[in-house]
Amino acid sequence: MSAVTGPTTFLGMPPFPTAARAALGDAQLRRNLAHATGTIRAKRAAVIDELEDWEGLRQRAARTKDETLAHLDEHLLTLEASLTARGATVHWARDAADACRVVADVARAHGIRDVVKVKSMATQEIQLNETLAEQGISAWETDLAELIVQLGDDLPSHILVPAIHRNRTEIRDIFRDRMGAVGRAAPDGLTDDPAVLAGAARLHLREKFLSTRMAVSGANFAVADTGTLVVVESEGNGRMCLTLPEVLVSVVGIEKVVPTWSDLESFLTLLPRSSTGERMNPYTSTWSGVAPGDGPQEVHVVLLDNGRTKALADDFARQALRCIRCSACLNVCPVYERVGGHTYGSVYPGPIGAILNPLLKGVGQDPATDALPYASTLCGACGDVCPVAIDIPGILVHLRGKVVDAHRGDGLPKAEAVAMKAAAWGLGSAARLGLGERLLGAAAGLWRGSRAGTTRPVITRLPWPGSHWTRARDLPVPPRESFRAWWRRTGRDGGAS
Ligand code: SF4
Repeated sequence: MSAVTGPTTFLGMPPFPTAARAALGDAQLRRNLAHATGTIRAKRAAVIDELEDWEGLRQRAARTKDETLAHLDEHLLTLEASLTARGATVHWARDAADACRVVADVARAHGIRDVVKVKSMATQEIQLNETLAEQGISAWETDLAELIVQLGDDLPSHILVPAIHRNRTEIRDIFRDRMGAVGRAAPDGLTDDPAVLAGAARLHLREKFLSTRMAVSGANFAVADTGTLVVVESEGNGRMCLTLPEVLVSVVGIEKVVPTWSDLESFLTLLPRSSTGERMNPYTSTWSGVAPGDGPQEVHVVLLDNGRTKALADDFARQALRCIRCSACLNVCPVYERVGGHTYGSVYPGPIGAILNPLLKGVGQDPATDALPYASTLCGACGDVCPVAIDIPGILVHLRGKVVDAHRGDGLPKAEAVAMKAAAWGLGSAARLGLGERLLGAAAGLWRGSRAGTTRPVITRLPWPGSHWTRARDLPVPPRESFRAWWRRTGRDGGAS
């Protein structure tokens, strides 16, 4: 039996503006998203209000991450030594290909054709499932939402709730139509009751847990001084994967390291409240290498770079590596809520995706990545909720500058660049500004249209190149008389010109 892989790649998807335009036409998607994100937002707000000094906590966590990132090389070597001393094998992966090769080699060495997986963003980032499938190894997702995505030949659209774009009727159809092809079928008469759906998934997954000899996980945190990996989850599937199989491979981004066990305290308070709106995660699994006779007897840890050192080299934007993947920024983002996660063309959608993808991949390489820093209104809600105080709006603006710099001198100048040059020329001289104001005032005299219901007349449609503006926004009709002309006419300047 081979795993359903389907279109599990974002490669070749259109850039954000094109994808967003199409997504905006999907009213069902918007309803699903508004309901789900609204529910999580309310839960998060309630549990955060319970804490006296949330701001102090997030600043402490931000400091811990920044200090760790500043000495990342040292902490990683400490982590490697601690893990090795406790019986784990540490592998360093420069990129996705390196990391996938390690996992496939371990599976092949044991003659393993099936692996169970704990939900992991790092393994999605490196497209592990697809790479393993090419080599005849099936990777089975065991997180409920990931299972829905995998069975539906779908793509994840949210960091925490990858199937957030699906409603329960769609999930019932996916279970009924697809489960039987890859394992235990859904029971007859399956309904869309959430408890019934969870029961079907439990039976299906139990077979996988009990028959699979190797598991693959990520880690939420890696404690350097004890060599401990930490996975937090809500369903218990992670605990099954981390304890039942003989072999465990964990793919861990190098930014997941924290220096000491006590550093976990603030993160384990911030993460569940920000992500699921819970006071603590139902399951927090920790393991340090191999425990003889208990759990996996062969443990591998793949420390993954895949662009993280590139992000680290950016003095301002490196703070994005503080991210603990809580999803709070997605849940408050008005853009995400309207267009959904697929439009970002990456396993990292929403505000964090709009900064992390360009940082990991670099700007100036492909149009889809370069479009992401613009996928925001800069309203600032993402930065306000981030539990590790990442200045997401600031990084978005910073990256927009980098995108512009990367394309300076490419072919013909863009309309925006021409408009900015013209504005600089016009605003650079009082005489030219005055002439421009008079011309605009004369044009305003000719303008008759305004949108019904608006108190101030607005222009709703302009010919190219002004159409780039009016396609998305109205333009106030310029006043017939400029402020400076009014000032002079009413004698407020004391007669001075
Ligand atoms: S950027 Fe902040 S809010 Fe967004 S997922 Fe990461 S930690 Fe959570």
